[in-house]
Amino acid sequence: MTSNETLPDGFGRDFLRGVQKHLGGAADALGDLDRRAGDGDFGTNVRTALKLATSNIETDDPATYRQWGTTMYMGWLGVGGTSGPLFGMFFRDLAKAADDGEPTLAQFAEALAAGQATIQKYGEAEVGDKTMVDALDPAVTALRTAVESGTPAGEALAGAEKAAVEAARATAETTARRGRASYVGDVAKGVIDPGAAAMALVIGAARAAVDGEEVETAWIG
Ligand code: ADP
Ligand code: MG
Repeated sequence: MTSNETLPDGFGRDFLRGVQKHLGGAADALGDLDRRAGDGDFGTNVRTALKLATSNIETDDPATYRQWGTTMYMGWLGVGGTSGPLFGMFFRDLAKAADDGEPTLAQFAEALAAGQATIQKYGEAEVGDKTMVDALDPAVTALRTAVESGTPAGEALAGAEKAAVEAARATAETTARRGRASYVGDVAKGVIDPGAAAMALVIGAARAAVDGEEVETAWIG
């Protein structure tokens, strides 16, 4: 049994507004993690991306899933660091999940998988390198499995979020092999990777756009 459930009306809008809210709310904490484990610019990069996305929303007045997604990917593509282009290309793949209407759960899962492939193609990180890939990979696996077994969308996305949060938290125990955090080596031990934490919030925002429940962010610090 495969789930062809179409995500609810307004999913794109609520998902991208949720990304704004939760990444924006966690920007200080994410920046702090990057100060402890990297070069400290991630909080500023997140804020800049969201600010650009907000001005895209004001200018473009998005109406469809694709248009909402475009405001976010264009925002990230306007940011430096490693995360700017990687999140930019990731959100561009997500935006392609649907055109006028909302995506089905299966389309959203495949767009997430495409986003992961793009991040790994350009960033060359493998699972375990202490990057955003660590949170995304188990979320994609969980979501694809849920689609295969016909799990309802809210439950499927909740499973993906749980897998992403657990994996993001587990990055505290690993040593970075990519990005500027790799320059500090074992000093980053005990610190959650900020890109993995941000990715878990993105998956959480997608889940919240379906079930309307809060996104837990206290674990980030
Ligand atoms: P930089 O590492 O250049 O300072 P940012 O501070 O903007 O980049 O973003 C840091 C985050 O980007 C990290 O926490 C990590 O999750 C992610 N990241 C860095 N390099 C890579 C890479 N090569 N592939 C995937 N993700 C990466
Ligand atoms: Mg950095």
